[in-house]
Amino acid sequence: MAMFPCSVGNHRYQGPQQSAYLGAVNGTTSERVKKRLCPEHTASLIDVADQLLEEMDVNAPPSGSGLSPTRFCFRCKAEGNSWALFINIYPLKQEPRVWFGSACATDINEFLGVMGLVP
Ligand SMILES: [Zn+2]
Ligand SMILES: [Zn+2]
Repeated sequence: MAMFPCSVGNHRYQGPQQSAYLGAVNGTTSERVKKRLCPEHTASLIDVADQLLEEMDVNAPPSGSGLSPTRFCFRCKAEGNSWALFINIYPLKQEPRVWFGSACATDINEFLGVMGLVP
């Protein structure tokens, strides 16, 4: 039995708690949030991450291209964006999964809204 309610909807649940970190960074400005998630909402956050961002291969060699986040805005595909986005998910008994992306000044608000960083 999890000790804390799920961060999505604050509902109680059976089963193991999993955690995720979401963030957006723009120079010295950063927005980060930690979420405690039930198994169901962990799965739905993975779906969202797959749709919006690019998953990094955590097993790729350090010199590989797997470490380069995409330069294109996740929504409008504009190039040269100032916001770097990330989602880290820690599924139970599995390797952490990491997604990266970027956003333009307009679409950052969309990302923050999706991630529940702003009301
Ligand atoms: Zn939940
Ligand atoms: Zn954009």
